[in-house]
Amino acid sequence: MNKVGFFRSIHFKFAAIFVLLLVIAIQIIGVYFVRQLETSLVNTYKDSTNQWIDVLSYNVEQEMSKSRNESTPTLEEDINRVLANTRREEILEIRVLNSFSDVITKSDSTNSDIVGKKIRESIIKNFLINPEKTNSKQYYDDENDRRVLITVTPIKSRESQENLGAIYVLSSMDNVYGQITTINGILASGTGMALVVTAALGVFLARTITHPLTDMRKQAVELAKGNFSRKVKIYGFDEIGQLASSFNHLTHELEEAQLMTEGERKKLSSVIAYMTDGVIATNSNGAIVLLNSPALELLNVSRETALEMPITSLLGLDDHYTFENLLELQQESLVLEIEKDGDVSVLRVNFSVIQKEHGINEGLIAVIYDVTEQEKIDQERREFVANVSHELRTPLTTIRSYLEALAEGALENKDLAPRFLSVTQNETERMIRLVNDLLQLSKFDSKDYQFNREWINFPRLMLLVIDRFEMTKEQHVDFIREVPIKEYYVEIDQDKIIQILDNIISNALKYSPEGGHITFKVNANEQEQLLYISVKDEGVGIPKKDIDKIFERFYRVDKARTRKLGGTGLGLAIAKEMVQAHGGDIWAESEEGKGTKITFTLPYREELEDEWDES
Ligand code: ATP
Ligand code: MG
Repeated sequence: MNKVGFFRSIHFKFAAIFVLLLVIAIQIIGVYFVRQLETSLVNTYKDSTNQWIDVLSYNVEQEMSKSRNESTPTLEEDINRVLANTRREEILEIRVLNSFSDVITKSDSTNSDIVGKKIRESIIKNFLINPEKTNSKQYYDDENDRRVLITVTPIKSRESQENLGAIYVLSSMDNVYGQITTINGILASGTGMALVVTAALGVFLARTITHPLTDMRKQAVELAKGNFSRKVKIYGFDEIGQLASSFNHLTHELEEAQLMTEGERKKLSSVIAYMTDGVIATNSNGAIVLLNSPALELLNVSRETALEMPITSLLGLDDHYTFENLLELQQESLVLEIEKDGDVSVLRVNFSVIQKEHGINEGLIAVIYDVTEQEKIDQERREFVANVSHELRTPLTTIRSYLEALAEGALENKDLAPRFLSVTQNETERMIRLVNDLLQLSKFDSKDYQFNREWINFPRLMLLVIDRFEMTKEQHVDFIREVPIKEYYVEIDQDKIIQILDNIISNALKYSPEGGHITFKVNANEQEQLLYISVKDEGVGIPKKDIDKIFERFYRVDKARTRKLGGTGLGLAIAKEMVQAHGGDIWAESEEGKGTKITFTLPYREELEDEWDES
């Protein structure tokens, strides 16, 4: 904030107002006082001069009334003597006039030519008009640079009261005006001192007012910077004190509000940061100003590249949408496909506009959900329904066509009828098997299954299953057993594990060529406490791309061929669910044309607890 210039400051204004007021007051007082003083001094001077002239006039009248002869001195000589005896410092000149206003004599020798002549001054004319009264006149004698007073006083005969003449006195008033000048000087210097004191007082007073104001100004600057710790000092309980206290209250309230906003902001940002959905916020132009880590991860971008980027470019919508289009998308959502490390993920984006009051758009918030998994599940479900319908339709169509043939007369044919019936029977059994498999899988899906677990010596069980297959197999396939003699106990549902083995071994047999070998292995990994059980054949093998998919429901590598072999593609899917439910895992290794090895694991124990009775 700018500093206030001196001439704009309250200090200056206060001092100026004080000084001005004082100057006006002193001006008024001064004018009145000087006038009165001058009048009073001049009057006093005139009075004393008049009294002095009265005495002189008396003496002159005495001389004038005297009778004279040759031996007595002349009137002029007598008056001169009187004049010589009456001296007064400020009297400059005395002239004595007779009743015709001729100068009889005068006190000094200058201008002596006027003796015996008339004086032609206006004051004498005035006197002649009214000879009863003393006339006086003040004026400034430029020639001699002095202020003078002329007084013309009548000389009256004491007996006859007639006018004998007049006394014309010229006296100096310099003394009087000297006094006035001195007093004016004192007044002026007093005024000067008073002005200095008042100005200082004004500045001091202004200071007492501006000090808290300056404090508040500093406080306001600090407030703007976000520093709420300062408090304004309260100097008194006047209006400024109240303002200071209100200011402190305001600071407190502001701090509270700021803390609250800050708290809300933190809450919001932690909510955004810890959300599993991606959040993107833009400014009113559509440039990205905020995005959380899940958004970065979902869109597979770095924060640096994403910030400031237009949202349409970030979401790859440039070709179809503008930012304005997105603003209108309020309730709708968009589905995007983003490629990340070779996988395509499906994202759903919802938009909402940040609106200020009056409906001005402040930006856009986009929330991104990863719906890849859900899309996959939906897709799988659609495929599953299609697969089930297809699997059921094939045997049903076969059954229907055979039944139609029977109805149309094949029933009478002793050769055909039993064959046709056996086909329908096989197809029906296939359907029952399929439905049972599906039921089993659906139980796994709904976790609605129970195992009858028992501790079983697994190598022995394995050998039993292999023996059973050895007895029933129809092909020429050699069985190689690499099963340990040692006892390894696994806690399993025996029927379910036999079902797994049945499927794996029958697959191996199904795809084995005549004269091939099937190797059965059971290995114990002591570190992991796992049994590795594998069945390896020398059959057609499985292409690399299909190797993981064979555990999916209904997945068959060569659909036409395997259906002929009676498979539905559910066996390994069931096996996987069951092995996992037993705490193990299952996988396949294969080389096309050379053979396949299916391996699964089960957790084991070498010895059983005491209560276990093997018998
Ligand atoms: P089901 O077992 O339900 O009667 P299936 O045998 O066709 O039918 P799975 O056991 O789940 O189904 O096997 C899935 C697919 O994996 C088979 O269709 C086959 O293509 C392939 N497969 C499985 N085992 C082998 C193997 N040992 N050699 C070659 N291909 C195999
Ligand atoms: Mg099978």
